[in-house]
Amino acid sequence: MIAEVIINSNVKNLNKTFDYNIPFEMEEKITIGSRVLVKFGNIKKLEEGFVVNIKDLSEWENLKDISAVEEKDFIDEPKVEMAKWMANRYFCNVSDCIKLMLPPGTGTKEVSKRVKEKSLNSVKLVKTNDEIKDDIENKILKSEKQIKLLKFLSENDDVLLTDIPVLTDVSTAIVKTLQKNGYVEIYEKQIERNPFLHKVVEQTHNLKLTKEQKHAYEMVENAIDDYMNSEFLLFGVTGSGKTEVYLQLIQKVLNEGKSSIMLVPEISLTPQTVDRFIARFGQDNIAVLHSKLSVGERYDQWYKIKTGKAKIVIGARSAIFAPVENLGLIIIDEEHDNSYKSEMTPRYNVKDLARYLGKKYDVPIVYGSATPDMTTYHRAINGEIELLELTKRANDAELPKVEVVDLKQELANGNRSMISMKLYEAIQDNLKNKKQTILFLNRRGYSTFIMCRDCGFTAKCKNCNITMTYHLKQNKLKCHYCGYECSALTICPDCKSNNIRYFGTGTQKLEAEINKMFPNATTIRMDVDTVSAKNSHEDILNKFKNENIDILIGTQMVVKGHHFPNVTLVGVIAADTNLNIGDYMASERTFQILTQVAGRAGREKERGKVIIQTYNPDNFSIEFSKKQDYKLFYNLESTIRKQLKYPPFCDIIMLGFTSESETNIQKVANEVHTYLKNKIKTDNIPIILYKPVPSPIDKIKNKYRWRIIIKCKFGDDIIEIINECINTVFSRNNKGISLIVDVNPNNML
Ligand code: ADP
Ligand code: ZN
Ligand code: ZN
Repeated sequence: MIAEVIINSNVKNLNKTFDYNIPFEMEEKITIGSRVLVKFGNIKKLEEGFVVNIKDLSEWENLKDISAVEEKDFIDEPKVEMAKWMANRYFCNVSDCIKLMLPPGTGTKEVSKRVKEKSLNSVKLVKTNDEIKDDIENKILKSEKQIKLLKFLSENDDVLLTDIPVLTDVSTAIVKTLQKNGYVEIYEKQIERNPFLHKVVEQTHNLKLTKEQKHAYEMVENAIDDYMNSEFLLFGVTGSGKTEVYLQLIQKVLNEGKSSIMLVPEISLTPQTVDRFIARFGQDNIAVLHSKLSVGERYDQWYKIKTGKAKIVIGARSAIFAPVENLGLIIIDEEHDNSYKSEMTPRYNVKDLARYLGKKYDVPIVYGSATPDMTTYHRAINGEIELLELTKRANDAELPKVEVVDLKQELANGNRSMISMKLYEAIQDNLKNKKQTILFLNRRGYSTFIMCRDCGFTAKCKNCNITMTYHLKQNKLKCHYCGYECSALTICPDCKSNNIRYFGTGTQKLEAEINKMFPNATTIRMDVDTVSAKNSHEDILNKFKNENIDILIGTQMVVKGHHFPNVTLVGVIAADTNLNIGDYMASERTFQILTQVAGRAGREKERGKVIIQTYNPDNFSIEFSKKQDYKLFYNLESTIRKQLKYPPFCDIIMLGFTSESETNIQKVANEVHTYLKNKIKTDNIPIILYKPVPSPIDKIKNKYRWRIIIKCKFGDDIIEIINECINTVFSRNNKGISLIVDVNPNNML
């Protein structure tokens, strides 16, 4: 028997199969999906590979034997098929995709000897830093074992020191040497091998569904009964009881002995969320997969699924790869969340994979959101997705009252602080009444933007109707899409004022100002700087809730799915930050985030109040989020998208080139562009192809970045053209340039 093997490598030229002979004694053990070790080329060391096909004959002669096979920890044939499908669609190597499906921490053949610690209190964990890549490249680090370990650590977070010898066959002595030389850090953490160990959660039972919930439930139930791979959008305002519908659907699937995959955004994988599932189904039925678990913990969860013990998988994006048997339902909660699109190779969108699985196993998919993704809603009103609406809050709590404050007016009145009079008074009231407040300031978009303080004008590209980004180095404004640029403004073209400023206040500055304004109020801040391994975001939220802290100040981490009964006021400090991120999705993100953040206020008896501060009170995404009217927003935004050819009417494919040599990049990018241009002409395909231009952030870590943008309907023909282009023009002579192809990327920087 002959095995077709793909070498575990991300080198583009190795994205093909090599034939190996299966020695007689291994025939029983090797199946499609097996992990094997093989001799490859003249390399002395054995290479790891994956068997992707088995056949009787090979067209090649003198095949080498497979040297060894890993008898545990392999994937099955459908997963291999899925990996192939992904590699083609996302322009990467099959092995890049297979790696996502292997059990966590599968680095070497000795993995089966993994230590099975019982629950631990304080453990030593090892991590590495970013500098190692350069030191490996520049051959400062030579020891193969050391390099192997560092690579392993850079791919896996939170590795137990005691796990290292079995996971990587590198001794702890070597870890200590690396620690001495500053390449790794050994730190302590409270950790449990069973992440639910201390959970004592009171069991809950099915609630009596409201009429709307019941309708939604029954529609999906029918699809489950009929083995239909239909898709559903559960479009329900915040607090409308979407989760209760999920719970009962999962119960139904479980009763039939089938499994469910429940995806939630990484950031809302808090104990709060998980508890609701444990309370309904008990811990034994549930596996949780997310990045905060140690490798060992993730490995345990993986096996709980693989062995069929856990039939409910709750996890972030990558849980779609869980080794689920007998799949019955896929749910994607907060489906608009951008964490569902991977920004690393393979750059997949989890919704594509859900649809792939749904079709393959005839199972329904439920997308849930209060502010659906434009594309999902578009598909729903076009009849591709069944629209299920929940229009009321389940506990009859009223939606909050939203007010918009014009910051220009505030400035005109002489208030130069970040807090408007109205918000100031509302905070004061809340403090008096011992109610809690959340202040939201989104400083995640790092591009500084230029704005006129007198009239709210922001510079936009004349071709794309997109905010231009200020580039400090050249003192220019640039468009992230078409490459159009102009010199920076010192005078506002609309009102001729010279009151043009950078906008750039962070949460830290805000907290200081709040502390000055309200010296007796307690505050807590949650952003990337305050959230760390020791101080997780749920710790901060728990503290806020349990110690009844007066004011929580945070970035968009505060937005997602939390339930604080005592919060009656939410203040949005600057709704404009998201409008100016230089992206066609700016309005959609603003609308989503304002609506979600508003949903945090007044979820119980008392009606909540939301104050949105902005320099653009007339902007439609702000206006419609004030009305909390998604449909109005959708209608207007979709007209704009249609005109400018953005998703959902057109897809955006970004070909990104990076290299240390700008001349080489330009050369290769031009070759690729010429190839695509000719191909489009001869095949007469409706595509808009832009010329290669430097990326908005045109140099990162001394590497230049260029890109080509394509607008078209993403499908088999363009996939084929790009793959062909990569395999011929690009691979033949790429001068060491790396190329990534990203379809509808989350950000265009
Ligand atoms: P969503 O997921 O849409 O934000 P949740 O499922 O969190 O909404 O529901 C909000 C609140 O309403 C929760 O406290 C939940 O227990 C309650 N709830 C949901 N459905 C019902 C129902 N049918 N009857 C009574 N309360 C409900
Ligand atoms: Zn102006
Ligand atoms: Zn432009």
